[in-house]
Amino acid sequence: MAYYQSIMILSQPIRVSFLHIVALLEYAVYFERLRRILLTNLIIAIDMLNKRGDVIMEKFSIEEFQHKVDDVLIRHKSVLDILTKLQESSARINRAAAKSATSCGCVQLNIKKQESPPDISYSELKDYMSTHVEGNLCDVCKEKMEHEISTNIFYMAALCNLFDMNLEEILSNYHHNQLKTLGKYGLL
Ligand SMILES: [Zn+2]
Repeated sequence: MAYYQSIMILSQPIRVSFLHIVALLEYAVYFERLRRILLTNLIIAIDMLNKRGDVIMEKFSIEEFQHKVDDVLIRHKSVLDILTKLQESSARINRAAAKSATSCGCVQLNIKKQESPPDISYSELKDYMSTHVEGNLCDVCKEKMEHEISTNIFYMAALCNLFDMNLEEILSNYHHNQLKTLGKYGLL
């Protein structure tokens, strides 16, 4: 019986009254307001993210970074923890690089013997050396690598703190004495 009643109701022509139109208009106005509120919130959220990005990208000195590492390092304060964490982060960098080739596939490793003509100078050798990497890291693999490299630098700074060494000074000395003075011959 209920089935036939519903068939009867559905088969009747729909009468649209003035009240129906008013209700529909009210809904339209309501949804328009809702759309504007959501849009405004979205603009505010994007603005906040941009401002947050500016804060993250703010320049800082290596010395400042080293002080911050000292501030936040609480649990792994022991030299053994720092050394093993440093080693672990190095292994994780290797792992992330390998996974980008073996699991993701955004890069291909084409490992082969480095070949160069026998009669070239040491400075010309660079042009013949291959990285053996083909392709580019995708965003996911890049983020993973960046994370592991950051962790590695973090524990490097922690090690410097432990032995009272200034990371900025170490890098500055290396830059001036090793890289600028000796140049490519410093890495022979
Ligand atoms: Zn990838």
